[in-house]
Amino acid sequence: MLEVQNLTKKYGDVAAIDKLTFNIEAGRIYGFLGPNGAGKSTTMNIITGYLAPTDGSVRIDGVDILKEPVKAKTKIGYLPEIPPVYPDMTVSEYLDFAAELKKLHKPQRLTETERVMEQTHIGDVRNRLIKNLSKGYKQRVGLAQALIGEPPLIILDEPTVGLDPLQIIEIRQLISELKEKHTVILSSHILQEISAVCDHIMIISKGRLVASDTPENLARSVSTEVSTNLQLRGGEQEIRESLKDVGGISSIEVTASDEEGILSVELKAKEGDIREEVFKALTASGIPVLEMHTTRQTLEDIYLRLTGDNTDITDTDTGKADETAAGEADDANTDISEEVKE
Ligand code: ADP
Ligand code: MG
Repeated sequence: MLEVQNLTKKYGDVAAIDKLTFNIEAGRIYGFLGPNGAGKSTTMNIITGYLAPTDGSVRIDGVDILKEPVKAKTKIGYLPEIPPVYPDMTVSEYLDFAAELKKLHKPQRLTETERVMEQTHIGDVRNRLIKNLSKGYKQRVGLAQALIGEPPLIILDEPTVGLDPLQIIEIRQLISELKEKHTVILSSHILQEISAVCDHIMIISKGRLVASDTPENLARSVSTEVSTNLQLRGGEQEIRESLKDVGGISSIEVTASDEEGILSVELKAKEGDIREEVFKALTASGIPVLEMHTTRQTLEDIYLRLTGDNTDITDTDTGKADETAAGEADDANTDISEEVKE
């Protein structure tokens, strides 16, 4: 359905995306997940023919977007990160205009605009000016515009940014329904967003694809492993001896700590809570337990690790990481809006 080969876009010496290669099969929802600045919008703008790549190729249903842009574009519906706004048009005027741009003839335009308004539940605001709509409705109008002409491939760039929780649920529901007739690529910097609706997740970091798999397989790779980290006063030999009868431990790693005579110990266990057993065993051997805490890996940890947002996953503070991401979002948005204006 979509073949992306060695796609590269350079701004000066800096590669916004670097040799991206992936294939997309029909009838599924693909998630393009990456922190702000990862290169999601750049990739989507190239796939949809709005931006020329420095190198590489994009083929949609076998049609090369660079060689036959007009033909290739008829196969794609695109909702960009910053949709082109026509604030002084009514919803139905705008959709008719969008249908005209897609070269539909008058009678066909009428039936198509009716169809997409029904599909995205915006019929009740058809005569309202776009500037007076809520963000949630505006986004649905953008989605309706992408659906005109029933293109086989629908590309949505961060479609839920700026929406409230209820509006997010509505848009997600609409996106899930698209799968019946379309192949969908959806981008987001939020993992939950992607894992909620997508059949396949592609994680992009610094312009490179760092993972591509089903949510189930990604979650499985994270496994149920639990790490228990301890600070113990004692020698490595006696610590290992003391823990040898505690069930469920799959590995023990002992390293020096900053403090003399105190060792950092990391225990890995597949399932279950080993903390009490560990505490009892160490105490029975007269080894003081100065500190103990456990961490369980989540899909979020994998995402943060792969995208380099966080180098030490044991110290992961998801809330903090999100804040940083949101801060960068504004910068990235500014970049794109400037580009669109040009
Ligand atoms: P994302 O959509 O994942 O947030 P973008 O594709 O918008 O990422 O940006 C990828 C990188 O390319 C960022 O580092 C961004 O600053 C840079 N970039 C995007 N557009 C331009 C531009 N017009 N000029 C220079 N750098 C740009
Ligand atoms: Mg973007």
